Amino acid sequence: MSPRVIIVGAGVAGLACARALEEGGVEVTLLDKGRAVGGRITTRRRDGHAFDLGAQYLTGRDPRFTARVHALQRRGVVARWDGRVAAFEGTSRAPRETEPVERLVGVPGMNALPLALAEGLDVRSSHRVERIEADGSRFQLEVSVAEAGVTLPPVGARPPRDTASREPATLEGSRLGPFDAVVVCAPPSQAGPLVAGVAPSLSARVASVSLVPCFALGLSFEGHGAEVLAALPFDGAFVGRDEEPADSGLSWLARDSSKPGRAPGERWVLHAREDLSRALYDEPEAKVTAALVGELRALGGLGDVAPSFTTLQRWGLARAPRPLTEGAFFERGTRVGVGGDWASGGRIEGAYLSGLGLAEQVLASLG
Ligand SMILES: Cc1cc2nc3c(=O)[nH]c(=O)nc-3n(C[C@H](O)[C@H](O)[C@H](O)COP(=O)(O)OP(=O)(O)OC[C@H]3O[C@@H](n4cnc5c(N)ncnc54)[C@H](O)[C@@H]3O)c2cc1C
Repeated sequence: MSPRVIIVGAGVAGLACARALEEGGVEVTLLDKGRAVGGRITTRRRDGHAFDLGAQYLTGRDPRFTARVHALQRRGVVARWDGRVAAFEGTSRAPRETEPVERLVGVPGMNALPLALAEGLDVRSSHRVERIEADGSRFQLEVSVAEAGVTLPPVGARPPRDTASREPATLEGSRLGPFDAVVVCAPPSQAGPLVAGVAPSLSARVASVSLVPCFALGLSFEGHGAEVLAALPFDGAFVGRDEEPADSGLSWLARDSSKPGRAPGERWVLHAREDLSRALYDEPEAKVTAALVGELRALGGLGDVAPSFTTLQRWGLARAPRPLTEGAFFERGTRVGVGGDWASGGRIEGAYLSGLGLAEQVLASLG
């Protein structure tokens, strides 16, 4: 019988790990507490508006990542975004042009990428892992399922490759298992406590990394507002840098509707700087929205322009300012692994490579 591995977290890292394990002949189940796959790659669709409220685009260098991305590009899952990207620095209100970089985005939204990576995998959304317990040399999980919980495959479902010899792992009450190895692809403050009982040294290792918050606001403009925004001479702009903050509460803004395959309109996404996100963390949505719209007006010299629709995402764990470079952490002795973007330089490419690294180590340990 093939070995069984459980992966906690169906962001890019967990999905990349799962695909590589399946290719290695391992039975994999992925659990995610979110309602959809993708974690911090998400596209919010509400009242006819769609916004990428997490990752904005992807870039890549490592051939293992770029090969997968280019295969997805040939299928139309991702496409080049040739938006004009500028940078605001210091107190200047005149953005400078930036060097051209190949940026790719999911089509018609960033979440197309995780959806494609999840195709055919046994992924269960709305399944929160509460505890991981050792069961002899194997593992049992305690899971809570949100009411809306569904058992995916989410898209393009294909049956498990070896249906004759395989029963999908089923929940008995709140317990799932047994599994031969467990991999947690979640931010360190979530992964650490989960593995503390089964791999205490891993738990201690990840405690050194932290993720910081970032608020993301999606805005639609119509009429006069749309005309004013349409006149801005860029489609995306960095605002300051970590070490050299600009005179603004924003860190990034983008004309979301300029990305390929999007519906027509004038839709923007703003990211608040870490300090502003922290300061506003518990404030009501209306107050946060007003503050960020104020920052946009000040930065762009936009007068009293007002959006016709807004939607806010409060990311508490958005990005690791000081990510690790090891890539992945797997203990052969306990058969427990942890990883994610924070272990591999940050960003989507790092998350993907961390997942591959975990899969390699799991396969070697089960071999
Ligand atoms: C606002 C914002 C903008 C960004 N912009 C970019 C960009 O332009 N380009 C770029 O490359 N990167 C960007 N990033 C970073 C990028 O999104 C991440 O690097 C990448 O998505 C991380 O993937 P991951 O799989 O490591 O983690 P995540 O995507 O965080 O996935 C972890 C998953 O674990 C699940 N989980 C956690 N605990 C449990 C539990 N107990 N039980 C079950 N499931 C659990 C979570 O629900 C989540 O789905 C951005 C991030 C943010 C927030």
